[in-house]
This record gives sequence, structure tokens and C-alpha cells, in this order.
Amino acid sequence: MHVRAIAILGATGSIGTTTLNVVRAHPSRLRVAGLAAHSRWRELVGPAKEFGVGVIALADPAAAAEARASGAFPAGTRIIEGFAGLTEVACLPEISMVVSAVVGTAGLAPTLAALKAKKDVALANKELLVLAGKFVTEAARLSGARLLPVDSEHNAIHQLLRDKPKGDIDRLVLTASGGAFRDTPIADLKHVTLAQALKHPNWSMGPKVTIDSATMANKGLEVIEARWLFDIPADRIDVVVHPQSIIHSLVTLTDGSLQALLSPPSMAYPIQDCLLFPERLPCPAPRLDLAQSLTLSMTPPDPARYPCLGLARSAATTGGTAPAIFNAANEVAVAEFVASKLPFTGIAELVGRALAAVSAREPGVLGRRPRRRCRSEGGHVQARPGTSPLR
Ligand code: NDP
Ligand code: MG
Repeated sequence: MHVRAIAILGATGSIGTTTLNVVRAHPSRLRVAGLAAHSRWRELVGPAKEFGVGVIALADPAAAAEARASGAFPAGTRIIEGFAGLTEVACLPEISMVVSAVVGTAGLAPTLAALKAKKDVALANKELLVLAGKFVTEAARLSGARLLPVDSEHNAIHQLLRDKPKGDIDRLVLTASGGAFRDTPIADLKHVTLAQALKHPNWSMGPKVTIDSATMANKGLEVIEARWLFDIPADRIDVVVHPQSIIHSLVTLTDGSLQALLSPPSMAYPIQDCLLFPERLPCPAPRLDLAQSLTLSMTPPDPARYPCLGLARSAATTGGTAPAIFNAANEVAVAEFVASKLPFTGIAELVGRALAAVSAREPGVLGRRPRRRCRSEGGHVQARPGTSPLR
């Protein structure tokens, strides 16, 4: 029986630990060969022992030195450091898949390196597609590596689109829980606290993505993510608020009918779908109990409650570096909110100001200075035909 060896970037995080749970449930199918994180090395000692992991990478060199000196890891465990260490783990010869689940942009270089080395990538880190969708999808296309979405909405769409000709697809519909403040009076949003923003009604996730859910910047990033993953313009990608988080997304077909994918709100489902792709086995998470009554509702998002969604759409329409500007401004704004330097409503204001102040440009070759300015209308960056990783 084939055992798939994987590396996990962001192994100490919410996605990383759920990935380890899925591996634990399928020892005959999955094996962990490499783990990477930023600095929380103590969290990796247990998984390193349990899964017999040979290589650990820590982005923070001081943490790597501490981990080496601790003697806590089994003898023979290699502990490497920095961006180079992350990239080495992502390209280990014995692995065929990388779970890319670092928060923020530090995962870009290792993920690109993995794709170029023909490793399939289970991609949780949506920021990478927002920043560098053109380069990430191109790397996958050129090497033939698969880009499998972990993000629950995109994973649902990936499942729905499998084996459907592109001509059958009219629109994509991303569902959004509405986040922590979906029922808070809009006038009160100015005064909400960090502790309230971190209380997601349905999902248990890392802090950044939880705050992004409350502002719906997350859904904005996901529109851009979907545009790259499925090679479809952002104006054919809709968003609906679905508070139950059971319908993970929908696809509208050319004839007007819709197909949806349902599962309980646990990231174990989409993560397992990627890790075992294309095989299906029982998932180590609760199932939907249809003996209990179930209400599923959908409403359109209110632009006054979620201004970040409109800002992300306009960044997607402008194209070029505009989505990267949106993402960078949002990261700064969230950090300011976390540090109590900005009210919750200040996040969208800061992002809006950054988009207005910085002109977008067409990205050229990664790492070189961009040359052309981006057209603000019709400047939508289209992937070349056939660049969709969904084949
Ligand atoms: P967490 O905050 O829970 O975990 C972040 C992980 O990234 C940790 O392992 C952390 O290591 C590591 N990390 C942070 N900075 C660096 C760095 N510079 N170099 C190397 N590793 C680093 O995040 P989540 O698991 O919630 O999210 C991960 C990604 O998945 C994000 O892009 C998010 O948008 C996406 N996502 C998450 C979902 C979820 O349910 N959580 C759902 C859909 C997408 P350390 O612990 O050492 O700091
Ligand atoms: Mg999502």
C-alpha cells in the first residue's frame, strides 16, 4: 500500500495540529517526514517523537539553537533554521506533498520551491495566492505539481468542479459565516474589543484569520484566492452569509442549477481531502446528524457591515499589485487593532486609505522591480489560458 510522506509548514498552528490529527487517523496512508514552524519548538517535540520525524525547521535561528541544545528531540533529529531551513523541509526528497500552513507571507519561498520540485501542495495559506497568484499557479502548471486548496470554501469548490468541463460553470459562490459581529448593531462596531473579535461563532482558528473573518477581509482574500485557483474572474465569484458554516460553498452551473458541498465545520474534512486526494476514507471528525433538525440559511452580505469585502473586490478588479497592497495594509491594520492602537472599524479605514494612496503595478518577474503601471479599469490580471491547476 502506498504511504504518502508529507512535510507540514506551520505545524504548531491551528491547521498544522489538525493536519497531525488527520495523519494520526490514517497511519497506513500518511507519514510525516518534516515539520516547520517559527519559534515554538517545544510544541514540536511530541509530534517529532510520535511520528518519527527526521527533520525540524524553525524560522527563528535562536529558537533552533535552543531546540538543539535542549536535547528534547530524539537522537538523530536534524534541526535546521531560517528561510533556507523551511525551504529544505519543503523539498525533502522523500516527501511528495507539502502542507503550506504558515500564517502570513513567510511561506511563499518554500511553497514556490516545493512546487518547482514537483511536490504537491495542500495550500492553507491564502495570502500566497493573493500576493503572488500568478507565480504560484504558474509554478504548479510548469512542474505538473498539484495545488490542492485546504481553505474550506475552495476545497468544497475543488470537490464540486472535479470532472466537470469548464464550460459547465457559470459562477462560484463562497459562503461566509459572517464572523464574530454578524449580529452586532453596526453603530456598536466602533467599540468592540479584541476578546470579542477572537470569539468566532463556528470555527476554532488562528487569531489573524479569526479577526479577518469578523471584518470579512478574509472573504475578500478568498475571492482573490478563488480567482487564481479556478482561473475565473472575480466578478463571477459571489459571497453569501451562511451562519451555520455547513454549506462550504456552491457552484452555479450554466443551466442555472446549483451544487453545494456540506460537512460539519471542521477543518479535518478539507485537510483530509487534500492529504488523501483522490481517495476517500472516514474522517476523524464528527458527522452531520440528520436525525436532528437542521436549518440552513443564506443572506447577502451587508456592505456597510463589511467594507473590507468591497475593498478586496476593487483590489481584485484593479489587479496587479493591488491585492498585495490590500493584504499588506490589512496585516498592519489587524496588528494595530490587536495592539489596541486602532478601533475595529479602523481596520477597513486604514486598508481603504492604503489602496487609495499606493498605485498598483503589474508584477513582472518575481524579485525584479515591477515595470508597468496597472490599468485601474479592465486591468484585471488574467491567467493565461490553461493555467488553472484544476485539470
Ligand atoms: P496559526 O496562527 O494557528 O499558526 C501559524 C503557524 O505559522 C504556526 O505554526 C507558526 O509557528 C507559523 N509561523 C508564523 N510565522 C512564521 C514564520 N515567519 N516562519 C515560519 N513559520 C511561521 O494560523 P492558522 O493555522 O490559523 O492559519 C495558517 C494559514 O492557514 C493562514 O494563512 C490562514 O489564513 C489559513 N487558513 C486557516 C484556517 C483555519 O481554520 N485555521 C482556515 C483556512 C485558511 P509558531 O507557532 O512557532 O509561531
Ligand atoms: Mg475559508
